[in-house]
Amino acid sequence: MSSPSAPAPRVVLSTFPTPLEPAPRLAAAVGLRPDDLWIKRDDLTGLGGGGNKLRKLEFTAGAAHQAGADTLVTTGAPQSNHARLTAAAAARLGMKAVLVFPGSPGTSSSGNLVLDALLGARVVWAGDVDPQGLARAAAAVAEELRTAGSRPALIPFGGSSAVGALGYVTCGQELLSQLPELRHAVVALGSGGTMAGLVAALGSSAVLGVDVGARPEPGSLVCEFAAPSTEERLTPNRLRVRGDQVGAGYGTLTDPVRSALALAAGTEGLVLDPVYTGRAMAGLIAAVHDGDIRPGDKTVFLHTGGLPGLFGHSAAVAWATGRLDSTVRPR
Ligand SMILES: *Cc1c(COP(=O)(O)O)cnc(C)c1O
Repeated sequence: MSSPSAPAPRVVLSTFPTPLEPAPRLAAAVGLRPDDLWIKRDDLTGLGGGGNKLRKLEFTAGAAHQAGADTLVTTGAPQSNHARLTAAAAARLGMKAVLVFPGSPGTSSSGNLVLDALLGARVVWAGDVDPQGLARAAAAVAEELRTAGSRPALIPFGGSSAVGALGYVTCGQELLSQLPELRHAVVALGSGGTMAGLVAALGSSAVLGVDVGARPEPGSLVCEFAAPSTEERLTPNRLRVRGDQVGAGYGTLTDPVRSALALAAGTEGLVLDPVYTGRAMAGLIAAVHDGDIRPGDKTVFLHTGGLPGLFGHSAAVAWATGRLDSTVRPR
């Protein structure tokens, strides 16, 4: 038996620490002081196009690798950044990846799926299933692989578990060394592992999660995944979670998100995605408006990646393309 303090198995999939960059023009545009707002560039984690899921995979894929697995099996939406980065991690570790998605071929064909294909992943379409059905499909795929003589490991939805959250405990520690006076860390809340790790490292009062609508009760997931890494007694109502950016659901493009995408790009050249980081920025703007974040508060925005998802989101592509300022020069 290993001692409780034995370090969790980890593989290195990226270069840390990621940069922490000032965003003075965006800060002023949202009503903060120019030196209040910082961007944690976890979109620059590198491998496979980068993003927050790599920090979790260092631990979840690390455990699978150490246990002798040869194939990573995971689930997500067809535009899942997590699935794409699982494929990249598998390639880097000399393993195979099988991605189990709801829907059928043709449900989605651009954005992340282009990279999944390039990274050599196999995709299994599970048809019209709910989240439980998707999890069952992934378990069945793993069982088939095992019967065929492979050694599959299931990576949970979004890479989120207590083990995956360890990746964001280390990110929180990085942030404390980069900006000791940090007051708020603002992050998109999807499957919960990212916020969980940050809450464990920074305390629940320093982390503002912006629910993207990926999961019905993300706050309880955050508490579950953070629990082994913190002494704090967490309950969902102790967490700071904004639910006002979900709109009509996970895949929809809302007005506050359109404004946030345009503002971040126009003030700092910072490209956000319509599902996660766009909602997180819209939540940050709303938090400044209602006084939850005040001028003078050192605020870190977690840029968790997701750029390929922009190209896989037809409504966002149509909206952005429609803004193009173009003329034809007569000759
Ligand atoms: C998955 C994801 C998130 C949310 O992280 P969770 O750990 O699932 O809550 C945020 N941003 C991007 C770009 C993501 O892909």
